[in-house]
Amino acid sequence: EDRILEVRDLVKRYPIKKGFFGTSDTVVHALEGVSFDVHRGETFAIVGESGCGKSTCGKCVLRLTDPTSGSVRLDGVEFTELSGAELTEARKKLKLIFQDPYSSLNPRMTVADIIAEPIDIARTYKTKAERDARVDEIMEAVGLDLSYRTRYPHEFSGGQRQRIGIARAIVLEPEIVVCDEPVSALDVSVQAKVINLLEDLQERLGLAYIFISHDLSVVKHIADTVMVMYLGHMMEKASKEALFDDPLHPYTRALLDVVPTIAGGRIQDKRILQGDVPSPTHPPQGCCFHTRCTSCMRVCEDRVPADLEPRPGHVVACHLYDEGLTAEERKPAGLN
Ligand code: SF4
Ligand code: MG
Repeated sequence: EDRILEVRDLVKRYPIKKGFFGTSDTVVHALEGVSFDVHRGETFAIVGESGCGKSTCGKCVLRLTDPTSGSVRLDGVEFTELSGAELTEARKKLKLIFQDPYSSLNPRMTVADIIAEPIDIARTYKTKAERDARVDEIMEAVGLDLSYRTRYPHEFSGGQRQRIGIARAIVLEPEIVVCDEPVSALDVSVQAKVINLLEDLQERLGLAYIFISHDLSVVKHIADTVMVMYLGHMMEKASKEALFDDPLHPYTRALLDVVPTIAGGRIQDKRILQGDVPSPTHPPQGCCFHTRCTSCMRVCEDRVPADLEPRPGHVVACHLYDEGLTAEERKPAGLN
């Protein structure tokens, strides 16, 4: 089986206090039924604007937070139900690379100790020499000079710190690494180097990445498969080529600033995506994108679109691709 992670109908809702005195309760709809698979050695990108649920998705997969409902199967085992030693063991297969290489490294630990921490906790070595050899091996793999072993994170630039974070993430040989905006905090000149390192490690170690990003140009470079999210919902999911060359969902098209013209050509318009993202405490009825969609039909205002697959492997949650709609349902919204 080539599929390593199977996520089904993931829902995450949590209450927050609102109002000046924190007296009224509201519920944040962070994830509303997200499903996807990750295959061995692939880069599965999750993209969307801030607040779309992409980080929550990563956190549920890592069990940094528990989903309200849904299933996460890792290598065929239900990860959401594990506890104790089984959970500890399963966690070795899944690691996280943080967005911020400045705050995610303990300033009081040396580079070698930071990288060794996961193997120290998991006790994967018998002698100190074995431990040190493993640290050296990983430092070399991520391009860190061995003379850095006894130095501290604050002595390094963002790019070097992210290499330390990556070394720590892969030292236990995980199968999946969740990369949450791994290069967003870095200078553009450094981003490419870190991306190249991630690609190089993937090839050598057979890693799968869940690559969470708002940056479509980075995703276009690194991803094999892309899932677009909006307000906690999957909007579209396809191979990178299909998604960028032939986006089906109006939201994806708006994100890519591309709209098909009547003549069949394409025009670029930076202002295509108008209005703000509605609050996840009060998501719109029907299709959650309908308040901003220029193709909105009557049906969109009251029915949530199903996940449709108009082409093999290309999934889209949009009524435009539902061939079973009535003429009435297809009428543009707002017209009588
Ligand atoms: Fe637009 Fe309707 Fe498709 Fe939603 S379902 S994206 S509102 S056309
Ligand atoms: Mg985020």
